[in-house]
Amino acid sequence: MQEHPPPLPSWVLPIIKPGDHVETDQAALDASIQLAYESAKNQGGPFGAILTDAENRVISVGWNRVIEASDSTAHAEIEAIRNAQIRTETHNLSKPPNVPFTLYVSCEPCVMCFGAIYWSGLTRVVAAATAQQAEAIGFDEGPVTSGMWEAAKENKGIRFEHGTPTLDPQKPLQLYHANQGEIY
Ligand SMILES: [Zn+2]
Repeated sequence: MQEHPPPLPSWVLPIIKPGDHVETDQAALDASIQLAYESAKNQGGPFGAILTDAENRVISVGWNRVIEASDSTAHAEIEAIRNAQIRTETHNLSKPPNVPFTLYVSCEPCVMCFGAIYWSGLTRVVAAATAQQAEAIGFDEGPVTSGMWEAAKENKGIRFEHGTPTLDPQKPLQLYHANQGEIY
């Protein structure tokens, strides 16, 4: 029997929730940045993610819960993927009917999240901030290379791209840094 995803905290609901529609890549990226910003304001890490289906319907959201959950794997992307798979009752997000799934992230995925994406079945990742912008405040993205994303495209049909949000994707990172948040 599948567990239900945990209920969303009240600060998430005004930003976005499962069942909402995001009309454009830009709107989805902006929401991921808002999630990252509000997460940083609410004791979370400054990263957000939104997973949508083929109809631009939000299936799940995620934010960095590493410290709160005492879990080094609780990155935004992994939280979103896990909750989407619970909600759709499949470990494989390449299975019809609602494919393809897209993951929108406030910042480029780290090496661990690259691995989670690789095995998830989703086939498109759109990022706002660059790895360099996260590393500029001390976060470590691990050894992700462009060759890895090329292999993901070739082997699994996963397209990785940078989008153009209207919000500044560095704001959550800067807020976290200004608040002297723990770096991990
Ligand atoms: Zn990660």
